[in-house]
Amino acid sequence: MAKKKSKKKVINKLVLDEDNNEEEKRVEFHEMGLDDRLLKDIAKLGWEKPTVIQEQAIPMILEGKDVLARARTGSGKTAAFVVPLIQKILLRKQRTEEQYVSTLVLTPSRELCRQAYSNIQDLSSSCSREVKCADVSGQVNIKAQRSILMEKPDIVVGTPGRILQHLQCSNLDLKESLEMLVIDEADLVFSFGYESDLKALLEYLPKIYQSVLMSATLSEEVLTLKKLVLHNPVILKLEDSDLPDTDQLMQYHVKCCQADKFLLIFTLLKLKLIRGKTIIFVNTIDRCIRLKLFLEQFKISSCVLNSELPVNSRCHIVNQFNSGLYDIIIASDESVLLDTKSHVTDQEKPRRDKRKNRAKEYGVSRGIDFQNVSNVINFDFPPSLKAYIHRVGRTARGDQLGTSLSFVGENELEVFNEIEGALQSGESASSLKPYQFRMSEIEGFRYRAQDALRAVTKVAVKEARLKEIKSEILNSKKLKTYFDDNPRDLKLLRHDKALHSAKVHSELSTVPDYLVPKALKGSNISYSRKRANPDAGSRRAETKAIRIKKKKEENPLKSFKFKRSSQT
Ligand code: AMP
Repeated sequence: MAKKKSKKKVINKLVLDEDNNEEEKRVEFHEMGLDDRLLKDIAKLGWEKPTVIQEQAIPMILEGKDVLARARTGSGKTAAFVVPLIQKILLRKQRTEEQYVSTLVLTPSRELCRQAYSNIQDLSSSCSREVKCADVSGQVNIKAQRSILMEKPDIVVGTPGRILQHLQCSNLDLKESLEMLVIDEADLVFSFGYESDLKALLEYLPKIYQSVLMSATLSEEVLTLKKLVLHNPVILKLEDSDLPDTDQLMQYHVKCCQADKFLLIFTLLKLKLIRGKTIIFVNTIDRCIRLKLFLEQFKISSCVLNSELPVNSRCHIVNQFNSGLYDIIIASDESVLLDTKSHVTDQEKPRRDKRKNRAKEYGVSRGIDFQNVSNVINFDFPPSLKAYIHRVGRTARGDQLGTSLSFVGENELEVFNEIEGALQSGESASSLKPYQFRMSEIEGFRYRAQDALRAVTKVAVKEARLKEIKSEILNSKKLKTYFDDNPRDLKLLRHDKALHSAKVHSELSTVPDYLVPKALKGSNISYSRKRANPDAGSRRAETKAIRIKKKKEENPLKSFKFKRSSQT
């Protein structure tokens, strides 16, 4: 279990006086006047205390103020608006049973919509009858979503593009009903090309409603948005908006040559120096696959977040990772196409390129909630400070601790120095400490790493990519009707030549004792893995019987046998 971190100081420039000791006072969830059902759901999630942004934003939003909050992803900002909006709906339901769409939550991508939606569901599971929510960001035809909106859910979640479409074709009418507008990851809304959609959408809203804007930065774009939707807002600006404190997030780096990165990652994982859920970032999809196939050689399983796959599959992978099916996920910044290809409608196509370029900087690391991540490994060093912050920000979320480790190749030294300098002089004055690790200690692993890398040929990588796409096509719901009409095509795909990706050498998966560095020899960690054995089943049963017998023998009460003395 991740440990809890200590209290953090907040400066809310407009609300609190900087010298005022009041800012140190912590408000608990139960002191916020929240409905018992909401408190129950918060407790179910295991949240003991509100995070800094929640502590600040929830009371303000409950008071009915417009709020602009600068908060990094991972700070608990989603619940900072979800908790009060549920509370407000519950209060309203006590006054009237009338059902209408009172709240609109806009986010710049389908993934973020899903995330907000699932947060709303989690926090309203005890009052799901009273609080109804719909996420209409899905890629289905808008006609198919009409019936959902006809039921007038209390909360509608969607991207600005999709919501505008619904408003334009009168599936949604907010003129009389809207009470609250939330825009999450507001700084990405414009950079994802939604500026004109959003401006057009505002025309469909009533004159008076409460607005909340959540943003990682207070960029020019956010300030424009602020003028458009906020009225005399309270601005909540957390002191540390980039990365968590050094007592919550430990950042390390290790300098090595490019070729040694594979050796390093394999030994760190195999020697269990990296433990817990880990995201490994690399710079391209090909390298994601290559690394996955390489690790497979050592029976280290991982999944790849491949931007070539459709959004549903990628969400599925993130869910599998979050639910603990995999401990390692390999992602590239290209996975940002998460947000572009998938949700672009025909109407939006001209904006796609602009969005793609702008968004590239952020990568998969922006906004998506990978849960309980203990480590972020930059296998390839990120190209910019922004990318570094967004990648590393995947760990140490909420009140959990996290570690980042960056591999710095000889060709990445320049960008590393730049980023390190910027981090040291930044608000959080954080630094990337050298990871105390002697490469000479792992020399013995070099041949294994080289053998494994040799097996991961370009062809193997290409085939693995194809294999993934092929299985995606076979499982595609959208293509089902096509395959029903054209069974021959399906057959051809199914009987396509078998793909042989990298051959796995089972002997590589064990770590012989002589390879374990001296410093680790005394530890209780077991590095060797039992070899796969055809007789394993029967042997296991045998060993179990022996174990029970041994245990019995060790237990004096069970092993004690009364022996009649022959002399008596
Ligand atoms: P967010 O910044 O909204 O993406 O949230 C980041 C993570 O923090 C999510 O996994 C939340 O489940 C978690 N979280 C949110 N609020 C709290 C809290 N009060 N205590 C502990 N974890 C939280």
